[in-house]
Formats: sequence, C-alpha cells, structure tokens
Amino acid sequence: MFIKTKKVTREYTRSSKLEKSHIYTRTKTLVVLECDVCHNEFEREQGKMNPKRASSEYYHVCPNCNPKQFAQKRGVERRKLWNLSADSDIDITKI
Ligand SMILES: [Zn+2]
Repeated sequence: MFIKTKKVTREYTRSSKLEKSHIYTRTKTLVVLECDVCHNEFEREQGKMNPKRASSEYYHVCPNCNPKQFAQKRGVERRKLWNLSADSDIDITKI
C-alpha cells in the first residue's frame, strides 16, 4: 500500500585538491509504502521504482517478505474468486 512520499536531504563533503572541504547536499525522494504481507512500513527511493507503482493500485512487498510467495497467494485468491463466479450468473468473460 502506498502511504506517502517524503524528501530527505543528505550532506556530502568533498575535499578538493587544495584541501578545502566543500559541502554539498543532495535531495532525494523516498516513497513510504506499507508491506501488503506483514504491514510494516518500508521505504524505497522514488528514482529506483516505476512511478506507476507508487500508488495503492499495486501491491508492495517489503524486503523481509517473499514477493513470489505473495504472488502465489494472490493467485490462489483470484482462483477462488473465479470459482465463485462460475457458480453465478455473472458472465466471467466480460470481467
Ligand atoms: Zn513485509
């Protein structure tokens, strides 16, 4: 689940050849997500993920959980739904 985005600023020090240190900052945007398996919050760098996936329309799995296992579980749930549809009058070819 998508929660929010946040900006973090980091300071870096670069020393030049004249032994003067030069401080510069970099801002990056982090996407705060909730794992759809264990419901822990975790962060991803926005630049490293597909912008389309920064929404709740997609499932997000944290690094501690197994996305393949999660995908399998979703597959089973979908199958249950399909079986349900088969017993009803809903035309499943239109879903
Ligand atoms: Zn998780």
